[in-house]
Amino acid sequence: MRVVTGSPEETIALGRAVGALLKKGDIVAYSGDLGAGKTTMTRGIVQGLGMEDEVTSPTFAIVNEYEGRINVYHFDMYRISSGSELWTTGFYDYPLEESIFLVEWTENIRDCIPETAVFIDIKYLGEDSREILIRGDDRFDDISY
Ligand code: ADP
Ligand code: MG
Repeated sequence: MRVVTGSPEETIALGRAVGALLKKGDIVAYSGDLGAGKTTMTRGIVQGLGMEDEVTSPTFAIVNEYEGRINVYHFDMYRISSGSELWTTGFYDYPLEESIFLVEWTENIRDCIPETAVFIDIKYLGEDSREILIRGDDRFDDISY
């Protein structure tokens, strides 16, 4: 599905609707430039999974963890440039089958993302306007937010 959002709040609302449909074992694979809105969308997804935690960018920590009904691991692969470095992030250590991974900058680790992932690409259209494409899973095709 393709949507254009006109504010960060709208992207958060879309994220909330996506989050409500996620289940254990899902990987959300984000692509999109710095400032596109990946962390903003993650804020909504975490809310949609029933958590009230403040979501911050894991750029320096590489991974932030949110504990809830389903645990969420929010990765930022901005600084990761190869599959071998991925071993240092916890990506292969956390129990994906029991949790949900939300991964920013999958451009950097493309070959390591399973084809079963939910692919979310965000493009900057203008100051408050973003194009958001959700691919790889028809669960989200009729989403309303
Ligand atoms: P990323 O994680 O992709 O680097 P962030 O979510 O951290 O991006 O930052 C996106 C920035 O763009 C925030 O400052 C946010 O307020 C702003 N923004 C403006 N319009 C939108 C929109 N429609 N959707 C998401 N973010 C938006
Ligand atoms: Mg980010």
